[in-house]
Amino acid sequence: MISWPAPSLPAVPGAAIPVELYDRLTDRLAPVRADGTVRTYACGLTPYDSTHLGHAATYLAGDLLHRVLIDNGTSVLSVQNITDIDDPLLERADRDGVDWQDLAADSIDLFRDDMTALAIIPPTHYLGVVESMPTVIASVRALIDRGVTYALTDESGARDVYLDVSAVPADPAALSGLSYAEMVELSHARGGDPDRPGKRDPIDPLLWRGERPGEPAWDGGEGLGPGRPGWHIECTALALEHLGAPFDVQIGGADLVFPHHAMSAVQAAALTRNDAYAEHHIYQALVAYDGEKMSKSKGNLVFVSRLRESGVDPMVIRALLLAHHYRSEWEYTDDLLTAATERVARWRTALSVNAGPPAEETVAAIRTALARDLDSPAALEAIDAWTEATLTAGGDRIEAPGLVARAMDALLGLRV
Ligand SMILES: [Zn+2]
Repeated sequence: MISWPAPSLPAVPGAAIPVELYDRLTDRLAPVRADGTVRTYACGLTPYDSTHLGHAATYLAGDLLHRVLIDNGTSVLSVQNITDIDDPLLERADRDGVDWQDLAADSIDLFRDDMTALAIIPPTHYLGVVESMPTVIASVRALIDRGVTYALTDESGARDVYLDVSAVPADPAALSGLSYAEMVELSHARGGDPDRPGKRDPIDPLLWRGERPGEPAWDGGEGLGPGRPGWHIECTALALEHLGAPFDVQIGGADLVFPHHAMSAVQAAALTRNDAYAEHHIYQALVAYDGEKMSKSKGNLVFVSRLRESGVDPMVIRALLLAHHYRSEWEYTDDLLTAATERVARWRTALSVNAGPPAEETVAAIRTALARDLDSPAALEAIDAWTEATLTAGGDRIEAPGLVARAMDALLGLRV
């Protein structure tokens, strides 16, 4: 899958700072290794709609990590998938009377445009599920060969294959930090089928959905038959194929903790016979609008593309998102957009003067903030402090505005 153009990253003078990320299971910051290549996996969209601010915040959090690592001289190998076949895509295409492949292609184009406008560094490998079907099918077949699956047949004769979680030596409760009751409840809420008769455990995830009349299907080969993969196995298969396990950082929305990431890890444990999957996680907190989590099902969405169409500078959208730490929930309001617009304008005014106060400490503060669990609000405050000093007291350092601009561009993706 073609991704999108990479933004250029100017070099920034000064010392690098090792990166730490928050670990929700231990409630501590943990260092990301600084040697070799850091491998990251970001869970992608199901392409049936436009990118909303919650999605953009997730990919922006991953982008910040990549920028800090690159600034540190660390090489990054990144994978991002796109779930270009799944129930929500087929349901939306059906509702709107369009071909599901056309809907996916249009949505992916729009996503690329949004990511380009927001200066998000593209993944090394951007992978659609449809184009990766042989890899995904091979993983399902390998799980069958491991003897950790079972099949259920519905009235139409369609044969669905499930993972038998109890047969795998990896504990989804330990991986997610959730109780069994919470896992069953989240299976209900997030696309699982815990009530289906015949399941060995309500939380067992679907690996392969047998072909239904009128639905697209791929040949799974002997013993599997025609059908299409479940959601979790696609990410496991692509991560193992392109990154190996354990890899360093898994990136996604906070609602992916369970079942998606836990089941991805359980499946990987069954395939690799090793329960180490992702060393660190970036979980973007939910973004609300009109009092509720922004979600496609509720329809309370603020789309990046619509803001852009209405004339909002993408750098203002980026500044708006960066004003919130990725682990803090927040609610979008028009006032926040106004504040971000004014903030960017003030930065522009300060950066356009011929000289300013020394900027070395400002650059160090930006680096320190980002290295400490991607604290973008603190990084923006450092820029604000330099901006205020420039516009009130001024300074005689002619290199200072250029240095601040380079740091904002390279580390925060703010090319103002
Ligand atoms: Zn995923």
